[in-house]
Amino acid sequence: MIKFYDMEAINMDSIDALCEASDKIIRSGNYVFGTEPFEEDFAEWNGNKHCIGVSSGTSALHMALLALGIGPGDEVITVSHTFRATVSAIRYCGATPVYVDIDPDTYCMDAKQISSKITNNTKAILPVHIYGNVCDMDAICRIANSHNIPVVEDCSQAHGSTLNKKKVGTFGKIGTFSFYPGKGLGALGDAGCIVTDDDDIAEHLKELRSWDSTTIGYNYRLSNLQAEFLRIKLKNYNNILKQKRSIAEIYNEHFTHCHTRKGVQHSYHIYPILVNDRNIVRKETNDKVATGIHYPIPVHKFHSHKTGVHLPVTERIANTQLSLPIYPGVNAMKVIDVLGQYA
Ligand SMILES: *Cc1c(COP(=O)(O)O)cnc(C)c1O
Repeated sequence: MIKFYDMEAINMDSIDALCEASDKIIRSGNYVFGTEPFEEDFAEWNGNKHCIGVSSGTSALHMALLALGIGPGDEVITVSHTFRATVSAIRYCGATPVYVDIDPDTYCMDAKQISSKITNNTKAILPVHIYGNVCDMDAICRIANSHNIPVVEDCSQAHGSTLNKKKVGTFGKIGTFSFYPGKGLGALGDAGCIVTDDDDIAEHLKELRSWDSTTIGYNYRLSNLQAEFLRIKLKNYNNILKQKRSIAEIYNEHFTHCHTRKGVQHSYHIYPILVNDRNIVRKETNDKVATGIHYPIPVHKFHSHKTGVHLPVTERIANTQLSLPIYPGVNAMKVIDVLGQYA
């Protein structure tokens, strides 16, 4: 039986360093307000001037939009093919999500559909680098710049994904990451961060995450323990990425797979295939290979976000998508053996 994900195995790689760090932090008596070492390492690794550690990927998105001054009456252009935190964050600000459909080849925001959705109320464009693939950032930033609208990249599934060797989170005004344990780079609990090259936004975000004095106030801080765990795991992350990319290469030879744009290096948080009769396929194979679905209900059809818009590509992918296990040590040939006949 092949597991969908092996959370424990990934942390076993650095078990000694993790235990040593937790021992040190427990004894230090210093549990918050000491996350700079990780923030500096992550900013450097990702190629940004600033990294602001926060409590989750969801709070990272909320804070990014707050820092841009987004509020009631504003519109944010985004996708429905995402984890629903992307859309919830827009609504926390009282703003309205405006959807564009995804590109049928990459499953990422279809840049061609953005212009027709821009109004005087559009205050941000929020693409999602879904599964670890990279959106068409050249086109998205070109459109955004021509209207003077900031881009916020949701990088929660794309740690280390690159376009022309530049990492995601460096193209827009702000990038947000989740370090939820199951994400590409995961903490041992909830965590997230925001990256930006803008000094003023970085300052504002540091105030926002910990009870700034001008607004109602938030506690969106990252704890020292998670920051230190992340600092340790970041050292091994390039190596994990390399292993996941070689597994993907094997899968790519056997499965009809999603495309990456020219110059893109995928990070394979998720390896999606499309199958008809997904429930039957899962029933026939789940005692041998555990698979996932990301996501069975697109956000615009999810009850608390339900709207009447029709997004044909998003809906088709949501109905047929199946996620294969992809992590260091997974038996790729066995997965191909069991699922190769379906896709
Ligand atoms: C996981 C995820 C989030 C939310 O991150 P949390 O750390 O779970 O709050 C946001 N956006 C996307 C695309 C995600 O995959």
